[in-house]
Amino acid sequence: MAVVQYTKSLPLVAKPDVLVCGTGLAGIGAAVAAARNGASVMAVDRMGFAGGFFTNIIGSAFDGFVYEGTGKPVVGGLVFEMLERMGVVQSGQSPNLSYNVNGDFTEVEKYPDRVIPRTDPERFKKASDDVLTESGVRSLFHTQVSDVIVKGERVDTVIASNKDGLVAIKPRTVIDATGDADVAAWAGCPYEKAESLQPMSLHFRIGFVELTFELRRKCAAVLEKARAEGKIGLYGGPWPATFSGRDIYFNVIRTPGDATNPDDWTNAEIQGRRDA
Ligand SMILES: Cc1cc2nc3c(=O)[nH]c(=O)nc-3n(C[C@H](O)[C@H](O)[C@H](O)COP(=O)(O)OP(=O)(O)OC[C@H]3O[C@@H](n4cnc5c(N)ncnc54)[C@H](O)[C@@H]3O)c2cc1C
Repeated sequence: MAVVQYTKSLPLVAKPDVLVCGTGLAGIGAAVAAARNGASVMAVDRMGFAGGFFTNIIGSAFDGFVYEGTGKPVVGGLVFEMLERMGVVQSGQSPNLSYNVNGDFTEVEKYPDRVIPRTDPERFKKASDDVLTESGVRSLFHTQVSDVIVKGERVDTVIASNKDGLVAIKPRTVIDATGDADVAAWAGCPYEKAESLQPMSLHFRIGFVELTFELRRKCAAVLEKARAEGKIGLYGGPWPATFSGRDIYFNVIRTPGDATNPDDWTNAEIQGRRDA
């Protein structure tokens, strides 16, 4: 590939103890924990809000924090604080309740007495803002981490881009919570990538419909027909979930490709919208 040389002096905008790159679920946890333990923390995200998958692409419910057999939590801490902040459970009750393993319709029908750990992405954005701010984290949104300068064995400087142009941040410690290990990869850390990649997903929402088993069966039949006729390629599920009882969130679209390849990612957005 042809290359272009580029040299520029950048403004040093922050020198935090801890820089958290990416404010998804991992990044929120890392930033809040570091700040509550006395570190000065900056958390950056390319989006205009925290929450990662849950807010960027519409999460339906919190997976993986309970054991399905009993519905009892297997982890604690921030997950309960977030559920309480979003009004999913009452303050202080969280560890003692039984939960559905996720918001999937089948699970909810199977265990009607369990709490469904789901919420609307907009509530999640607000709760994330609150927990980060109240912990003393300085959030910097609409800021894409773009490169690193490595000195010796350490990341010395992180280069980010936002409406100020290119800016430099010199943290004592970097936590890579980008979900794609962007920082680690650019720093030259070893990593493994599967030969066969999980396809990308585009989640979407439909308003003013009631979710029923019958509707899901019909959706499955429509999807299978469309696939057989070559109108769509891959699909998953369908896994519909509802936030309000009057809307449906669909986890169904699947597009093959590598999400760390900009062209593949763009094509997946376009193909995903077409399929949706
Ligand atoms: C199809 C699908 C459905 C799923 N459904 C569920 C579900 O319903 N419930 C559930 O609990 N889990 C679900 N999961 C799993 C869940 O998505 C992950 O476990 C979770 O997102 C991992 O959190 P994370 O913080 O590591 O990454 P992410 O949530 O991906 O967060 C990464 C953050 O980093 C930011 N970022 C990335 N690169 C940069 C950069 N260079 N500069 C600045 N910011 C950057 C992103 O904007 C994002 O905010 C699902 C996963 C998939 C693929």
